[in-house]
Amino acid sequence: AKEAGRNQHRCFEPLMDAEIKRRSVLERQLREAILADDLRPHFQPLVELAGRRLVGFELLARWPRRDGLNIGPDQFIPIAEESGLINELMLQLLERGCREALGWDARLSIAINISPVQLKDPWLAQKILATLTRLAFPPQRLEIEVTENALIVDADNARRTIESLKNQGIKVALDDFGTGYSSMHHLRMLAFDKIKIDRSFIQALDTDPDARKIVRAIVGLASSFDLPVVAEGIETEAAAQTLAALGCSYGQGYLFGAALSAEQLWREWLVPVTR
Ligand code: C2E
Ligand code: CA
Ligand code: CA
Ligand code: CA
Repeated sequence: AKEAGRNQHRCFEPLMDAEIKRRSVLERQLREAILADDLRPHFQPLVELAGRRLVGFELLARWPRRDGLNIGPDQFIPIAEESGLINELMLQLLERGCREALGWDARLSIAINISPVQLKDPWLAQKILATLTRLAFPPQRLEIEVTENALIVDADNARRTIESLKNQGIKVALDDFGTGYSSMHHLRMLAFDKIKIDRSFIQALDTDPDARKIVRAIVGLASSFDLPVVAEGIETEAAAQTLAALGCSYGQGYLFGAALSAEQLWREWLVPVTR
């Protein structure tokens, strides 16, 4: 068995080398792209389920590359996290997103994702606030999305960061709810403003009766904490109606719209204000 293990190891080595090389090339390119301010936010609509009213947009990072390769956030965000580029990436996205949002109806909010590693940074709240202040962007219109896993990396710093964001009027949502660790604990310890049910539960709604029970339980739990619930990854009308019936207030997903560039947004979602 030992012998076999060693052979296996040797046979995987060239593959590992190739993967390490690919990552280091990507890391260098990502660093250059951030320096050149090449990353762009896309905007995914968030709607109120009852009236199908637009309430805001989530910012999702996109990396338009000159070579045409499509490298999604699932690939470049982990690289940005490990290389320490994530703060710069987020601040650029925040700035671009806020500049866009200043041109919208002032009731529309924007949400931005924060990586677990970023919550350890004791200066994070100040950095975000400095950007908002510079742009004169009302903190009440900004929402930060954090995942539960962010809270176990460094619970004390995470809590301090979340509290200082909230003290400034920024809202904090618990993202991907149901997939992380000790959800109940985090709901109790931290004053979130909303929770987002992970799309894995939503996508199972049409086919798996257990998914419905789980969603019902999450909505019930959230309502006992007076927390509005957002369902993400809604792709079908049936799922949207089930969710509304279960008491879920907000929704997001391809049924309503995918993430769009700032230009597409104006064509599909926003009405220019005529003065
Ligand atoms: P997330 O925060 O859970 O964002 C939702 C993801 O689901 C987005 O993928 C979105 O395009 C996709 N999505 C939305 N509606 C539907 C739907 O109806 N069906 C399906 N199948 N998918 C849907 P995206 O943009 O590829 O982002 C993936 C993940 O990468 C995000 O998951 C988030 O964790 C991370 N991410 C994206 N941008 C940023 C960022 O600026 N900072 C950080 N830290 N993470 C980011
Ligand atoms: Ca999110
Ligand atoms: Ca999510
Ligand atoms: Ca996710």
